[in-house]
Amino acid sequence: MPPSLLLHRAPCARPTSARSASRLYCSPVVAATNGAGGSRSPKPPPRRPPGKPRFSRQSAIRKSFQQEQVVFSTPVPADPTVAVIGGGASGLACASALAARGVRSVVFDTGKHGLGGRLATRTVDGELVFDHAAQFFTAGDERFRRLVEGWVERGLVREWRGSVGELEAGGRFTPTPFSTPRYIAVNGMRQLADVMLPESDLIKVVRPSWISKLEPFNGTWRLFENEKPQGQYDALVIAHNGKCANRLLSTSGLPQLTKQMKRLELSSVWALLAAFEDPLPVPQNSSYGAFEGAFVRDIDSLSWMANNTRKLFPLETGRPECWTFFSTASYGRRNKVPQENIPNATAGKVKRDMLGGVELALGLSKGSLQLPFYTRVQLWGAALPMNTPGVPCIFDPQGRAGICGDWLTGSSIEAAVLSGMSLGDHVADYFASHGERPEEFAVGLDDSLNRVEGHDIGQFPGLESQKPQVAEPQLAPTV
Ligand SMILES: Cc1cc2nc3c(=O)[nH]c(=O)nc-3n(C[C@H](O)[C@H](O)[C@H](O)COP(=O)(O)OP(=O)(O)OC[C@H]3O[C@@H](n4cnc5c(N)ncnc54)[C@H](O)[C@@H]3O)c2cc1C
Repeated sequence: MPPSLLLHRAPCARPTSARSASRLYCSPVVAATNGAGGSRSPKPPPRRPPGKPRFSRQSAIRKSFQQEQVVFSTPVPADPTVAVIGGGASGLACASALAARGVRSVVFDTGKHGLGGRLATRTVDGELVFDHAAQFFTAGDERFRRLVEGWVERGLVREWRGSVGELEAGGRFTPTPFSTPRYIAVNGMRQLADVMLPESDLIKVVRPSWISKLEPFNGTWRLFENEKPQGQYDALVIAHNGKCANRLLSTSGLPQLTKQMKRLELSSVWALLAAFEDPLPVPQNSSYGAFEGAFVRDIDSLSWMANNTRKLFPLETGRPECWTFFSTASYGRRNKVPQENIPNATAGKVKRDMLGGVELALGLSKGSLQLPFYTRVQLWGAALPMNTPGVPCIFDPQGRAGICGDWLTGSSIEAAVLSGMSLGDHVADYFASHGERPEEFAVGLDDSLNRVEGHDIGQFPGLESQKPQVAEPQLAPTV
């Protein structure tokens, strides 16, 4: 049994059902249809009944489930390279874990301004700074805690000691006790992405790059960006989710990964970034001062508000206040539009609704909130996972491909990092086995998905206000 499975999730080392057992051990590999090395088990072509349209969403989904499974039969090379598609927290953690085990990887990411994905910081005119996705994080798991402590020692991450709590309409604020440290990256959350990659010749980053096609070829995976070849790799890591991943996987020859990915449901959340000349009139008292971050209760257009200026520059005075406001997931769902192309009317409505929510939350009279001198509205159309298989990672040894990401165990930076680390270790173990006992390395291919509990902006393990989680991460500490 591979060591990482022993450490992280022993039950996955064997198939979880008779159905998966027969697929893993018995399905005959008959033909090599794709050049060599990787082969696809044959299936009769699907028949289209007369009069049916050529394309429908349902038939596309069905087709992607019926893809022929790629089966790599070539030996694992001595010095393999892994393609990691996605340079968010999970992809970067995966690349680092692979490098720690001496395995090369190439990380592809779409980010124009930097790596990080939902670790996102926007700087406007060099002065206004907004974290516009992840706001802060906690560290519940021992392995993640060790990592975070290293970042703190290097001065890249620090505790956010400002007051954070719950805000009810009318300005009733209840601070959350300090029992669990809350962390932020000192220059904004995107910085975490740079922090996470070790300086290593074993990791190459290609950015901005949008991988649009995967193709098994000669015992390797060929990647393409539109039609441009982006190299050949011995294994694949899908470190992103949502529509992009579904599209990429739909013709990949990885039906089991496709099926799991398609089960994932994601919330939508609106973000409003707003800069104000003067401080907002937030509740404060002598023991906790003015709050810097608040989970907002019972206001449809608002679930979170945070003062980036106080959070990132606590010692500086006279700076404009840069606030990040997030809607609730239910408001996001009801007001969803294509995130790349937000109609002006929608942007205007969302801004009005959210600023109205701020007034309500702070107990201000309608129309009395000072006008921000800068605003930006953004939709996170695939914001946070709403369900999870509760496994550290997914790996299909036949196709030499895996998935990591926050959604494998929850909805937080911690979940993303732990998932990436697990998959990196797992792939390294698989390579170390020379691919000789592939069936032992199948992970998460059949697990059903359960609801994720937490806040509309994710989970914060250890915070007092955290609701109990439904899907417990099944990660055991390393020894
Ligand atoms: C509004 C909001 C608030 C949040 N607040 C918090 C918080 O306060 N605390 C917390 O812990 N968590 C928070 N989260 C969650 C946290 O940000 C995520 O859990 C974590 O960052 C996810 O990392 P990931 O690697 O799984 O995915 P991502 O960060 O989404 O990374 C995926 C990457 O893959 C790239 N990609 C996609 N398709 C391709 C392709 N075809 N080719 C190449 N690259 C591709 C994407 O551009 C992206 O960079 C928040 C999330 C949102 C949206």
